[in-house]
Amino acid sequence: MSRITFERVAITSTDLLIVGSGIAGLRAALALAPAGRVVILTKADPRESNTGYAQGGIAAAIGADDSPALHAADTMCAGDGLCDEPAVRVLVEEGVGYVRELIDWGARFDRAADLTPALGREAAHKVRRVLHAGDATGREIGRVLWERVSRLKSIETINDALVTELLVEDRAVVGVRFFDRVGASHDVRARATLLATGGAGQVFRETTNPSVATGDGIALAYHAGARLADLEFVQFHPTALNRTGAPRFLISEALRGEGARLVNGSGEAFMTRHHPDGDLAPRDVVARGIAREVERTGQPVFLTLAHLDSRYVHDRFPTIADMCRRVGLDLARDPVPVGPAAHYIMGGVETDEWGRTSLVGLFAAGEVACTGVHGANRLASNSLLEGLVFGARAASAMLQPPQAAVMKSDRKKRSGVVSSELARSVTPWPKDENDSRPLSSVDTAEVRDLMWRSVGLFRTREGLLDAVSRLDDLVKRAAPNASTPDADLWRQFNLITVARLISRAALGREESRGGHFRADFPARDDLHWKVHLVDMRPD
Ligand SMILES: Cc1cc2nc3c(=O)[nH]c(=O)nc-3n(C[C@H](O)[C@H](O)[C@H](O)COP(=O)(O)OP(=O)(O)OC[C@H]3O[C@@H](n4cnc5c(N)ncnc54)[C@H](O)[C@@H]3O)c2cc1C
Repeated sequence: MSRITFERVAITSTDLLIVGSGIAGLRAALALAPAGRVVILTKADPRESNTGYAQGGIAAAIGADDSPALHAADTMCAGDGLCDEPAVRVLVEEGVGYVRELIDWGARFDRAADLTPALGREAAHKVRRVLHAGDATGREIGRVLWERVSRLKSIETINDALVTELLVEDRAVVGVRFFDRVGASHDVRARATLLATGGAGQVFRETTNPSVATGDGIALAYHAGARLADLEFVQFHPTALNRTGAPRFLISEALRGEGARLVNGSGEAFMTRHHPDGDLAPRDVVARGIAREVERTGQPVFLTLAHLDSRYVHDRFPTIADMCRRVGLDLARDPVPVGPAAHYIMGGVETDEWGRTSLVGLFAAGEVACTGVHGANRLASNSLLEGLVFGARAASAMLQPPQAAVMKSDRKKRSGVVSSELARSVTPWPKDENDSRPLSSVDTAEVRDLMWRSVGLFRTREGLLDAVSRLDDLVKRAAPNASTPDADLWRQFNLITVARLISRAALGREESRGGHFRADFPARDDLHWKVHLVDMRPD
């Protein structure tokens, strides 16, 4: 049996190290298990991850009217000119096999009358291609992977292990430093380390992501000197539950795929005014459409399913119906108030198609990685697929000799735009020079609020300059003192680091594309900006 260590941590080295226990980390662990001792470090309960909350499903070209080529075309169209085509081909071609493997391993996806997997349709998919397990697909996939991992003796999982730094020697990553649940700090060395730390939604005040999604892997890689890319591209989901006092629970796009409609406070449908595909337009368009409608009418926007069969709604979306019930709403009858929330980050640690990064010994897979498959905007239900495919591929690369396992990438890039051109415009945020107080948790809330207001759905140079200036100041104050190890300070420092990097990248890109919308540069500008922003290092 794979061991789960709760209290006493006495590990100093392993063969292969994985940080994170979502779909990417678990799939990689299964591939690595025959090759040696694998340790998974995960900062909470192993099931607590974005993966566990995924609702709509996992995309794969298995339908009779579908093909990997069609799936690739939809993925590239959503990516708004910035997808990495070879990586997309890997995703859609190999993805079919990995999803079938999940079914062979016992994943219980919903089935059609002929017992083939029932396929849902989501925004920007031209055909039905989304396999789902009710509206809790991530939980089901996590269950299957976790059961397999738990059976393997060579995998050890350490819970409540917050990784705060990568150990670097001669520009090679040789392991990690982490805090255990009692706050003691440990170093673990390994011949290869995989970052599978997931997303960064918690950097924003409004998010569908659980509390673990603080973008730690991006900060760890940044501080170790790894190259990051595309951090300005954050996907804001249009329909999170918008009820005062309730968490921003996701109301999946699959509901609109099944006929749910967005209406304003007067019950009028409005999305066709913003896009010919109406309610099924790309996520960023729907998110901004909702925000504009709220501003225009001064009233909330609702999702209505009242015209659909009530029993079908409850059977097809039991988790969402239950969540609505808890806040006093009947999903099938009541208008459900919805609004945008940060949902997914397309950018991250730059990798090639094998999860290799710019540093020897460091690999990345899943939401923390920037493989280039999502370009400027992710196609719905492609991220679980990405975690599966690239988790397994990163595992293969981790078994190669170290020097052969460094990223080779020929993407068109532009680096350091902010530091060289725009940094001069950043006016330092006025501060009290004597203020050396450690940051309190209030400051983290302020950062999340600042990110939502200035680096959210509508971005402007003015707002971004303000955000960058404040975050430049905060990050200096937040830097932990090496002689007083403190997990909370590291948590804060890494969150502020990620916020700062996203803000700088957003300031750098003077156009609108995919999830990145600049109100002052509202058009896509291929002439100047069909490039990836990498290495926006402020220092
Ligand atoms: C509400 C919601 C619904 C979604 N629905 C869908 C969907 O229907 N289809 C789809 O394709 N995608 C969906 N997504 C996106 C998808 O779930 C994620 O992109 C994907 O699951 C990410 O997997 P991952 O393995 O990269 O990371 P995660 O599943 O987030 O796992 C990250 C792991 O890393 C751990 N970790 C993080 N930092 C540290 C640290 N410093 N030290 C130790 N451990 C750490 C976390 O605790 C966690 O175990 C949804 C996301 C959300 C939030």
